[in-house]
Amino acid sequence: MPERISREAAVASIKLPPGKCLACELMTGGGEPLVLWEVPRVVALLPRLGVAWGQVLILPRRHVVRFSELDPETWLEMSSLAQRVARALERRFEPARCYVASLGTARSDVPMSCPHLHIHVIPVMDADARPAQVLTWSGGVVRGEAGELETLRDQLLALLEGR
Ligand SMILES: [Zn+2]
Repeated sequence: MPERISREAAVASIKLPPGKCLACELMTGGGEPLVLWEVPRVVALLPRLGVAWGQVLILPRRHVVRFSELDPETWLEMSSLAQRVARALERRFEPARCYVASLGTARSDVPMSCPHLHIHVIPVMDADARPAQVLTWSGGVVRGEAGELETLRDQLLALLEGR
């Protein structure tokens, strides 16, 4: 199982070149991401660090920081992919619930928030867990090793492809 590390250790392990966008770096391979699914305008990634095992990030390829900059077609692709990913997570994890949320801000001074617009899809195993408890790194961060992430990617890919 992936280990849970402290927020401080997680932050210290992120190597982001100054002035770079974390999401853009992740999509170009700079942050050791694992691509789960790609369509022309949208990418779904399995992050190495997350609030829960099975968390998936859905991002537009274009660097967009506000909904008013995002064309409706791309948002529809993102939303449609979020639902497909949530369905795959439901089958893989049978979570108590599945959170789907866009929590970013264009501000660059908010810790642990990426300005690049994105959707989180998060399997929540504890039915009593409230959003404020789930959507934070304060209680620790789940870190998946490369092999664990690849296994999960293959499992979710099979579900996405209906295998
Ligand atoms: Zn970006």
